[in-house]
Amino acid sequence: MSLDPLIVGGGPAGMAAAIELAKHGVRSILLEEASRLGGVVFRGPLRDGVQLDYLGPRYCDMLAKLHGEFSDHEQMIDVRLNSRVIGAEGQDSLMLLDAEEQVQQVEYSQLLLAAGCHERSVPFPGWTLPGVKLLGGLQLQIKSGVVKPQAPVVIAGTGPLLPLVACQLHASGVRVAGVYEASALSKIAKQSLALLNKPQLFLDGLSMLAYLKLHGIPLRYGWGVVEAQGQDALSVVTVAPYSADWQPDMTQAQRIAAQTLAVGYGFIPRTQLSQQMGLDHGFSDDGYLRANANVWQQSSEPHIHLAGDMGGIRGGEAAMLTGRIAALSILMQRQVLSNEAALQRRQGYERKLASILRFRGAVDRYTARGTGQIELPKGDTVICRCENTTRNDIERALSQGVQDMASLKMRTRVSMGDCQGRMCVGYCSDRLRQATGRKDVGWIRPRFPLDPIPFSAFAAPDQEVSEHE
Ligand SMILES: Cc1cc2nc3c(=O)[nH]c(=O)nc-3n(C[C@H](O)[C@H](O)[C@H](O)COP(=O)(O)OP(=O)(O)OC[C@H]3O[C@@H](n4cnc5c(N)ncnc54)[C@H](O)[C@@H]3O)c2cc1C
Repeated sequence: MSLDPLIVGGGPAGMAAAIELAKHGVRSILLEEASRLGGVVFRGPLRDGVQLDYLGPRYCDMLAKLHGEFSDHEQMIDVRLNSRVIGAEGQDSLMLLDAEEQVQQVEYSQLLLAAGCHERSVPFPGWTLPGVKLLGGLQLQIKSGVVKPQAPVVIAGTGPLLPLVACQLHASGVRVAGVYEASALSKIAKQSLALLNKPQLFLDGLSMLAYLKLHGIPLRYGWGVVEAQGQDALSVVTVAPYSADWQPDMTQAQRIAAQTLAVGYGFIPRTQLSQQMGLDHGFSDDGYLRANANVWQQSSEPHIHLAGDMGGIRGGEAAMLTGRIAALSILMQRQVLSNEAALQRRQGYERKLASILRFRGAVDRYTARGTGQIELPKGDTVICRCENTTRNDIERALSQGVQDMASLKMRTRVSMGDCQGRMCVGYCSDRLRQATGRKDVGWIRPRFPLDPIPFSAFAAPDQEVSEHE
């Protein structure tokens, strides 16, 4: 049994927390499902080295510094790569699938959950066609450098990742047919003062826009996706101007020939584990579920902490700072730091966090989703890809009086498949909120294991699995 603090997630938040603990002489265990540390920006198949040249120089430097500091303290951190947490046993141990694909139980005294976020899926007619993918998936494809996305590519969504991916695609020789930002330019312009809280990021954004203009890549504000069409794979994307609440104006819709459509309408914290642990959750203004944390990053169970994108989408710099604040709380609980010393350090980190939050608030305001997009799927559009539940099935359940997520799951099987709702819960809870007028429509507690695991995980290491003749 180990009573060292346990950290789930080796991204910027988890790494920064481990460093802070090590600096104060406290060993920790860091569990990471990927084969290397670094989190989402390092994710990607078939990458030999760690190249961050696709990131802005400022963020690159910050990550390099984090990795340098981590190496300096490595002897105090038990890093377990290829180790995926697949569930919780009460609130003092976790179950994980280790690098040998065996299920293990790990106990802890204090826990930090820093599992990051995943992309929000937006259903529309044709979204399940081959060739339609999430923006992050497309970025992985570019990063892998092995298979180029099929051109021409259309990019639709909202937020600063859109122009970044368009520039990356163009730089790697892929033709981009157009970029469609759902928010109106006037909405973005209104936030320019707050965006200047991070002048370098603001300038990086402007230089990407200049790059698109220079290379003749159309960027339209206030436009969004309506439909994807094709026989066996994507061949045409329909886009249209969106109203303020993102309702498409079909009288001005345009059809664009495309073999790839990348869709990026934001991110959702990865809360499967915190939900399974029964921690308190709430909905953000943007309608995503997140576990509640106090100023010390403590969840409703004070020995369980949250940091980084998992507690709310605020970017890498904020992830590092919240990771460090969570570590201070752990140090205080272990009586390594006095309350006064921990508070003093926390206030230093909070001052840095404040300008990030002002910048982030501006991004959140301009990327705030309009509810009109809920109407994009037609009756036969599949919403839950695992269980083949269509919009008609969901509408039928609503007309029969279903008012919350748990009842919708029981009535229609949404979220009962392998992904346990990662893809469909966003749409379902939006639709429930729209139908009931309530902000809190409940959530579904994911079951063990959180991700599918191989049968071999249950065989004892010396036990041979007999082959079927
Ligand atoms: C292209 C790109 C550019 C960006 N540019 C900037 C920028 O300029 N400035 C900025 O501030 N931010 C930027 N960001 C955002 C920033 O990288 C993220 O906000 C940051 O990585 C969040 O850190 P995190 O530690 O919370 O989560 P992540 O980086 O997502 O790390 C979470 C880790 O947890 C692991 N994990 C999850 N679940 C489990 C589990 N069950 N078991 C074991 N391990 C698990 C994951 O594998 C992952 O490694 C950018 C992101 C991208 C993709």
